[in-house]
Amino acid sequence: MDKQQEFVLRTIEERGVKFIRLWFTDVAGTLKSVAVAPAEVEGAFAEGIGFDGSAIEGLARTSEADMLAMPDPSTFQILPWRGTVDPAARMFCDIATPDGKPANADPRNVLRRALDKAAKMGFSFYVHPEIEFYLLKGTELGPDGQPVPVDNAGYFDNVPGGTAHDFRRRAVTMLEQLGISVEFSHHEGGPGQNEIDLRYADALSMADNIMTFRTVIKEVAIEQGVYATFMPKPFTNHPGSGMHTHFSLFEGDRNAFFDAAAPYHLSIVARQFIAGILKHAPELTLVTNQYVNSYKRLWGGGEAPSYVSWGHNNRSALIRVPLHKPEKSQSTRIEYRAMDSAANPYLAYALLLSAGLKGIEEGYELGAETEDDVWSLSDMERRAMGIESLPQSLDHAIRKLETSDLAAEVLGESVFSYVLANKRNEWAQYRSQVTPFEIEQNLRTL
Ligand code: GLU
Ligand code: MG
Ligand code: MG
Repeated sequence: MDKQQEFVLRTIEERGVKFIRLWFTDVAGTLKSVAVAPAEVEGAFAEGIGFDGSAIEGLARTSEADMLAMPDPSTFQILPWRGTVDPAARMFCDIATPDGKPANADPRNVLRRALDKAAKMGFSFYVHPEIEFYLLKGTELGPDGQPVPVDNAGYFDNVPGGTAHDFRRRAVTMLEQLGISVEFSHHEGGPGQNEIDLRYADALSMADNIMTFRTVIKEVAIEQGVYATFMPKPFTNHPGSGMHTHFSLFEGDRNAFFDAAAPYHLSIVARQFIAGILKHAPELTLVTNQYVNSYKRLWGGGEAPSYVSWGHNNRSALIRVPLHKPEKSQSTRIEYRAMDSAANPYLAYALLLSAGLKGIEEGYELGAETEDDVWSLSDMERRAMGIESLPQSLDHAIRKLETSDLAAEVLGESVFSYVLANKRNEWAQYRSQVTPFEIEQNLRTL
């Protein structure tokens, strides 16, 4: 048994932890949990805990149904919302096949593989997400058929006595108790919309942190008698909830994106990384924006990107390069603005990292930045500037992913085919709906 495992066993005993929840994430990005008794943990470290993988979305074919959850002791945390009486704790798990090999369909393993590849090239990958979500009075709809937000405030508003304040305070405290550092939190542009920005971390820890974050936000909402949603676009007339994510690559302690002499301090490595992501963005969008509803956000205004472009001070760009002082070389980074708050972070990071690395390996050239507001250009102007669009619907995104060699390689055969099958099914269901829009437009006139 290693030191971390010993630490976990000791803490369980000292703190009187009664339930240890083993967490992992399915291919769709849903958190799964199985609770074990303290006496089982030592065995779980040694041999894993068996479960029926075929019951979990995308995890296994029936022929390889038996799976093992192998708890990762570095992720052990006591769950603050369960209180101090008979406390509960959690550990994230890697999924293995019965013969002990990493399961192909485990999203955490997909990300580990991409990170190993980065490590072979000498890089570690850091990320920092800005997570937006809406606080609603509940799941009941209002008389206008839309959800009911908890307030009517807007960007950076300070709402006296408002729910949002208490909510963020409680959520941030809980996240810190779980070892997740928060950098900023504020009211976002939509009524009831909030944003919490997590301090940067390595991509695997951050993907775990995002899964924890969603749970914490849902728990705090329940505690406060409201409802939190990460749905990408819950309102027709208000901005969607994005998960802008800042990326950087480090070589040891040195930020590989920084070059003091270059424009915006962007090294060649950074430029190639950006070029890689831009080139492959349309084919990866099915994963970063995985629902029918995601495309309502990307094409619904509200500062969400619709076109493939980059810029340093341009909120319509898909990739924005935030400016910083040259002495802060550690902060050189890029912001990817398409991903939404409902993405599976393991798969999304694996793909975006791999697209960037491909840009480096193949020495992709970065095109000119776009200084204009890309939304206000005409189609012809965009075409003349070589600006492509992101997929406009789930269907369009499926067609892009289908032909992506990069995605097939990075996701591996089982995840790749599961994602496609799952999303084709969602599209087929959506396509067959007669919507209120059509009734409204056509019923009385045709
Ligand atoms: N809510 C916007 C989006 O969907 C982003 C607003 C902002 O933080 O710039 O991407
Ligand atoms: Mg924001
Ligand atoms: Mg942002």
